[in-house]
Amino acid sequence: MRILIVEDEVDLARALARGLKQEGYAVDVALNGEEGWAKGEINEYDLVILDLNLPDMDGLEVCRRLRERRPELLILMLTARGRLEDRVIGLDQGADDYLVKPFYFEELLARIRALLRRDLRARQPVLRAGDLTLDPAARVAWRGKRRLELTAKEFAILEYLMRRPGEVVSQEDIIEHVWSEDVNLFTSSVRVHIHSLRRKLGDDAKHPRYIETVAGGYRLLASEGEGNENPSAVP
Ligand code: CA
Repeated sequence: MRILIVEDEVDLARALARGLKQEGYAVDVALNGEEGWAKGEINEYDLVILDLNLPDMDGLEVCRRLRERRPELLILMLTARGRLEDRVIGLDQGADDYLVKPFYFEELLARIRALLRRDLRARQPVLRAGDLTLDPAARVAWRGKRRLELTAKEFAILEYLMRRPGEVVSQEDIIEHVWSEDVNLFTSSVRVHIHSLRRKLGDDAKHPRYIETVAGGYRLLASEGEGNENPSAVP
């Protein structure tokens, strides 16, 4: 899950980013409206936390533009204005929810979870590939009946692969969708996470049942007839 925070109060923006990263979200920050619009236009975010009062481009304008550009994007608006008409305008401009400042971080998390859950249930209830099951909304994954104990990154990588069964996914694709902008990235870190993910899946890179290494990246072996449907035949 990739989140963009658009907030000109630097301390608040940083605190939110830190808290959300601890929850396992990939987070970017924009400190004004122009930057928020620019980042939102370029990057594929799942959700934007958008302050209404911004010094340059108004939050409502950012919201309207983002909504126009990406109809599926979730937008949670932050507002110091508690007046009813402001909230109505915000929702009319395409915000999915709003939170009045000051708020508790726990409430923000709950709103984010509720928005993502609502959205994910609508878009993609539960992912299945072979004997793997992954529930993006509940953030749990199983292999057969056994629940997998995955880190946030491993979970995000597996989710990304399971959304594209049979497709070749490059390390750059994974970095783009699973990591934040501000992290120093090396494709080697993707390899490290793939390695630990394979270990937890009981997979073998040389004779993969789940994640195959191919030229250009990785592929989730999910569909019937790709060698993974009959593991008992392997000596
Ligand atoms: Ca502000």
